[in-house]
Amino acid sequence: MSLATLHDLMVHELKDLYSAEKQLVQALPRMSKGANSEQLRRAFDNHLAETEQQVARIEQIMDSLGESPRGQKCAGMEGLIEESKTLLKEEKQEADPDVLDAGIIVAAQKVEHYEIAAYGAVCEYARMMGHTEAVQLLEQTLEEEKNADKLLNEIAEGGINALAERDGRENSEEGMESSTTRSKRATKSSGRNRARN
Ligand code: FE
Ligand code: FE
Ligand code: ZN
Repeated sequence: MSLATLHDLMVHELKDLYSAEKQLVQALPRMSKGANSEQLRRAFDNHLAETEQQVARIEQIMDSLGESPRGQKCAGMEGLIEESKTLLKEEKQEADPDVLDAGIIVAAQKVEHYEIAAYGAVCEYARMMGHTEAVQLLEQTLEEEKNADKLLNEIAEGGINALAERDGRENSEEGMESSTTRSKRATKSSGRNRARN
């Protein structure tokens, strides 16, 4: 497609967001399932319902513009979701549940920040071009993304980060008792690594 006008760019960004939101509808249940904290699972389930509404809003906007929402793949969201998948695979190995939750939260916040940037821009374009109805719908979505990000912050700061930090100390103390020789060797070799750097 050509990008001759700001309108073209708005359509381009909306197609990208449509793909992003559709990918998220698939990914959020997986993130919810991987979460240990009940509060975190509820946040994901609630945001899944919102995300389904966000998909419908983009369809409505594109319909009013006489454009199709399809035909583009958001590579940014694909990458962010890929990262969260890699993280969730750790669960099958030996992740601490609270540390994993802290990791899932930061992965989800990266997603929300991507969306906030894109919706912020598209909303502004729509405002400049006088698409009042689109602006209203986009503002609604933007508000939901900001609230999702804020809630994730609150969940992290409300305890998960602290639990993850405490577990980390306990886990590393346990590890040290059972493998004193190994850790001595590790210290030596990390010394070598430092010297090499
Ligand atoms: Fe969204
Ligand atoms: Fe994208
Ligand atoms: Zn979102």
